[in-house]
Parts: sequence; structure tokens; C-alpha cells
Amino acid sequence: MQHHVLIVEDEPDIAEMIKMSLENNGFHTSHVDSIAAARVLLGSEKVDLALVDWMLPGGSGIELVRFLRKNEVTKLLPVIMLTAKAEENDVTAGLDAGADDYITKPFSPRELNSRIKALLRRSHAALDETLQTGRLLCNTSNHRVSVDGKTLALGATEFNLLQFLMSRPERVFSRAQLLDHVWGPGTFIEERTVDVHILRLRKALKPYQLDSLIQTVRGAGYRFSDQD
Ligand code: CA
Repeated sequence: MQHHVLIVEDEPDIAEMIKMSLENNGFHTSHVDSIAAARVLLGSEKVDLALVDWMLPGGSGIELVRFLRKNEVTKLLPVIMLTAKAEENDVTAGLDAGADDYITKPFSPRELNSRIKALLRRSHAALDETLQTGRLLCNTSNHRVSVDGKTLALGATEFNLLQFLMSRPERVFSRAQLLDHVWGPGTFIEERTVDVHILRLRKALKPYQLDSLIQTVRGAGYRFSDQD
């Protein structure tokens, strides 16, 4: 299956470099240079992953990511932000808005390819089964997580993280292990990214008083447990 990657980037040279590199690696690509054009395209075509530049004409890429997460059709769409800024605050803002990953310019086509493949892998990693712990249900075939029949809005990474931990209850995993298992081996991601996604997962579970299922084990990592 050929994956369709949407490139939202206003710098023609960078967009062209990304497009060529992805197409050489077997991806089908579409390129738009504004948030407005991205919205139009996403309304009419199925996209498997979006690369979203930080600074776009008419707004920030973060605005587009927020829009994607609010939209029923695109809320699980894997998103990688392309950022020229390496400051921690900006990276965190991108992840907080719902991006699954970020890559700092300048990046090599090879690194970008590897990030895209890793993100697609963890988005498709679902096994076809339903996991249940008390009121919490995780359906790995349709990627729905629900409590008392109500569906939780989770990003692709939060879903994969929950599924991974939930299918291995009581086991403690370090951040590095979670990166390997959930993000995929050989990804260029910092360990604090794991904390951001854990926080987001807890936030989604909190309205149901289920955030305590995702436990921090001091000095060791995280575990999924319904025991105190
Ligand atoms: Ca730009």
C-alpha cells in the first residue's frame, strides 16, 4: 500500500526536496503552501500522514494541528511538525497542540524518511483485539478507546502508548524502552517526549478518574496498573 503524505510547507526549495525524497522512497505526496489549502485538500482526499511547517502564510502550523485534532476525520492523523526553532518551549507547544513528532530544520531526507516510517509503523501497530481493564476499553482494530461506552479523543501516539502499556499490565518500562517499543527502534526522539505523551494520556483519562492507571515508577519509568 502506498502511503499518502501531505506536505504543508511554504518554502518551495524545502518542499521540493521533501517531495523528491519521499517519492523516491515509495510515498505518494501532495504539497500545499498554506493552512487554507491544506484544509481544502484534507476535505477531499485521504491522507495517511501530514508534515506541517511551523511558520506558514496566514498563521502558525500549530493552528493547523489544533484544527486537525478537533476534526473527527483527521483527529488521529499522524502529524510531524517541521520546525526551524529548536527551543524547548516551541517544541513542547507543537506536541501540546497534538503533533506526534517534530523534526528540526535543517534535516536530512534520510532522517525525515526514518521518522515518517516510524510514525506510520506505530500508527498501524495495532493488533486486532480488544483490551479491557475495568471500565476502560481499548479496541485495537478501530483504534477507539472508551470508558462507559464514551469514546475518548486520543492522538495516535497516546493511543499506541496506552495500547502498549495496557497489553502489558504491571510491567515497568523505562522511557528508552517505551521509545523503542511505541515509537520504533532507531528513532531520533528525546526521552522527555515520552513524558509529554504520558501527560496527555493521563489528561484524557482524568475526567473518568482513570488517570491513576498510568503510574510513574520513580527512577524507573511507567507502568499500567489498576492496583494502588
Ligand atoms: Ca515556513
